[in-house]
Parts: sequence; structure tokens; C-alpha cells
Amino acid sequence: MPTFGFEFEYAKSARSACKQCKEKIEKDTLRVGLKVVTDPGEEADADARKKAHAMESAKWHHLGCFPRIKGKTWFRQHLPEEPLSIAGFDALKKEDQAEVKLMLSSCRGEEPAPEPTETPKGKKRAASKEPKSSKKSKFFAKENDAVSALSTEEQQSIEAVKVELAKKNVAALGAMLAQNGLPKSGRKDELLERVAEAKALGVPCCGTSCW
Ligand SMILES: [Zn+2]
Repeated sequence: MPTFGFEFEYAKSARSACKQCKEKIEKDTLRVGLKVVTDPGEEADADARKKAHAMESAKWHHLGCFPRIKGKTWFRQHLPEEPLSIAGFDALKKEDQAEVKLMLSSCRGEEPAPEPTETPKGKKRAASKEPKSSKKSKFFAKENDAVSALSTEEQQSIEAVKVELAKKNVAALGAMLAQNGLPKSGRKDELLERVAEAKALGVPCCGTSCW
């Protein structure tokens, strides 16, 4: 079974072409090499050795083209986990190393923060979770907006007034509302809410004396 070798380097000349897009790789452009390393084994004859050696010369690719040369599954199987273990990585400029890391993640189809166990099942779950939760939070945000037309301070004072008003009966609450030109229909908790809100916010009210 062949193993695969990867390497990074700045193109020494403009003579190589990308195996993916067939375009020329300019000199000094960061390129990614892929070579198939076959182990002919001890009993291999000269021909097999020669063939294996020929396959060892790297095929070059643009950094951006490299993730497209194989499927994600293949990359997950063959790409080294640790970029430092890839030939030439160490010698790259810092910013290029960062680029390479991103490129390697995209080869494997990983998110910026990959999970340790990468299974298609887990992937699917994570993907379906994403829009669901964002939808939910959107909904909550909307709901909160409606509720918090009142400031926290206002809500607190309403709560305080409510505790006070809870001691009163429905008739008393209704009378208070009527006095201020507010509807007095509803259950006690509804009246309570209405009185408390009007009282705490002072609207609509003819003055402090009316409460
Ligand atoms: Zn290319």
C-alpha cells in the first residue's frame, strides 16, 4: 500500500505547473507537493524499484488548489495531524504557516475548532444543530425585545408596586383603574399588572394623589 508524502516550499523556478488547475506556479510562490511513496519491499526487482523511485517525485499544487485534489475523507486519512511533521513547513514564513494550517483544515473539511472524533454522524449533528440554535436565539431575542420595552429599573418598580397591590381585592384595584380612566375588566392578576404598570410608570395619571 502506498503512503503519501507532503511538502511545502517556495517554488524554486516558474517551471512547475499546478496539477490541479494546470496553471503555472510562479517562482517563489508557496506550493504544496504530493508524492506517492511506495515500498517495493525486499523482494522487488530493479524495475519495481525504479518505478517506485519515479513516483517519489512530488507533484506540485497551488496552496489554494490543493484542497480540491482529493476528497475530505482521503485527506483525513492521509494528511498528518501535525503540520510541523510535513516537510518544509518549518521553513515557511509565519504568515504562510498560518495559511497552510487553514488550508489543511479545509482539506479535512474541518471547522476552525475541530472536534477530536470526526465522524460523518457527528458532523451531521453539529451542522443541524447550528441553524436550529441560531433560530431559537433569534426568536428569544425578538421575544425579549417585546417584553423589555420597559427598562430593568421600571420592571423592578412595577414588581415592588405589585407586591404592595396584591394585598388589595379586585374591587379596589378596579376602582383605582377606573379613577385613572383605565379599563377595569379582567382577572385580578391582569388588574394588578395594569395598576402596577400605570402606577410605576405614572401613565396615564392625573397626578400622584389619584393612586
Ligand atoms: Zn492551481
